[in-house]
Amino acid sequence: MNKLAIKGGQPQRNTTANPWPKWPVWGKEEEKALLEVLNSGVWSYNGPKETEFNKLFAEFTGVRHSICTVNGTVTMQLALEALGVGLGDEVIVPGLTWQATAATVIDVNATPILVDVLEDSWCMDPEQVAKAITPRTKAIIPVHLYGAFADMDAIMELAKRHNLFVIEDCAHKHGGEWKGKKAGSIGDVGSFSFQLSKHLTAGEGGSVTTDDLSLAERLDALRNVGRRPEGDSLIGADKGIGDYGDDGNFIQSGNYRITEFQAAILVEGLKRLPTQNATRDANGAYLNGLLKETPGIVPLKRDARETKKAYFNFAFRYLKNDFRGLPVEKFRSALEAELGIVVDACYEPLNQCSLYVPHTKPARHKLSDAYWKALDPKRFSLPVCERLFKEESVCLHHKVLMGTKDDMDLIANAIQKIYQNAGELM
Ligand SMILES: *Cc1c(COP(=O)(O)O)cnc(C)c1O
Repeated sequence: MNKLAIKGGQPQRNTTANPWPKWPVWGKEEEKALLEVLNSGVWSYNGPKETEFNKLFAEFTGVRHSICTVNGTVTMQLALEALGVGLGDEVIVPGLTWQATAATVIDVNATPILVDVLEDSWCMDPEQVAKAITPRTKAIIPVHLYGAFADMDAIMELAKRHNLFVIEDCAHKHGGEWKGKKAGSIGDVGSFSFQLSKHLTAGEGGSVTTDDLSLAERLDALRNVGRRPEGDSLIGADKGIGDYGDDGNFIQSGNYRITEFQAAILVEGLKRLPTQNATRDANGAYLNGLLKETPGIVPLKRDARETKKAYFNFAFRYLKNDFRGLPVEKFRSALEAELGIVVDACYEPLNQCSLYVPHTKPARHKLSDAYWKALDPKRFSLPVCERLFKEESVCLHHKVLMGTKDDMDLIANAIQKIYQNAGELM
């Protein structure tokens, strides 16, 4: 058997001669669109590209309204504000996610309640959600993580029974579908990120999606310094919101507007997305099949209710006992050396995440002693999140799924090679 690359052997892939697909993807279309914006002099503020993208993304997601804004963090903050979530309210968030999912809850003065995830999907466990519901619960934020979908049947059922809002964090799920409905069209609001690593990107950016006209009106106002919507798409909105000021035209808010340059790139990127998603889906399914051959490798569950797949990462569980006890860190380093690509762990669980530290900003967040105490992430027990993070998770960026079947064979072979040679690394 070949010597492992991490031990100085030949890597499975020579990335100089044979680089991985690049991300982001762009071409002449983006170049032309950017120049069009540049030469028009209309660089921001409800411009034609922004209006066009909002329309296209709403159609794509299967909702009546989509509003783009600066990123996929602000999207959640605005969604919470638009739904009236604030001080005294609890919001249920999975313990395994990017910090923004919980941080935005704090930024509207509400209390994040962290719940554990399911080991087969890495998404929030509906049973844990049910247990976390109290009279103060106002909303649930399911995250469709990496390549999986949160169990939206169970979550919507709970929300209905307890009269809770649902904000879907779709930062990993542009174009994914649950029983024929797109991610972002199932809950009250969908929140999307267009940050550089995401599978639809303008470098930075985000969108909120909803079917509810008055919610859309409020979201649109909140991203534009509280101004009542000016565009055509929201005319006819319900005027009975009640939280505009004395003259009836403004809500308190800030500037969260996207630029026309970003919107122009998003319009072009959205044209590429369905084909890219289909390629990643086909490769993901094929790779899952290959990985069945290797003991100790457990890909994320493909739920039969997921009618269209979307990947942010190709993720799997690694069970070290099948690899002679080789720790997951060593497995990831060995795989990185074979493939010449970053191999990550999953997100740090939010009860011990270096980027989620609410107790560092008392001037903003210490609203009372009781609230301060409630913000302590360490009060939540998240055994599945912790095990996935510390012992089992392996994540590859979606760009590895954008190549050929040969690329998938190569990934499976690299894993098999480490399996055969695990003893050498002990
Ligand atoms: C990227 C991401 C966000 C935040 O999006 P930004 O555009 O980076 O602010 C939120 N939630 C999840 C799950 C993400 O991956």
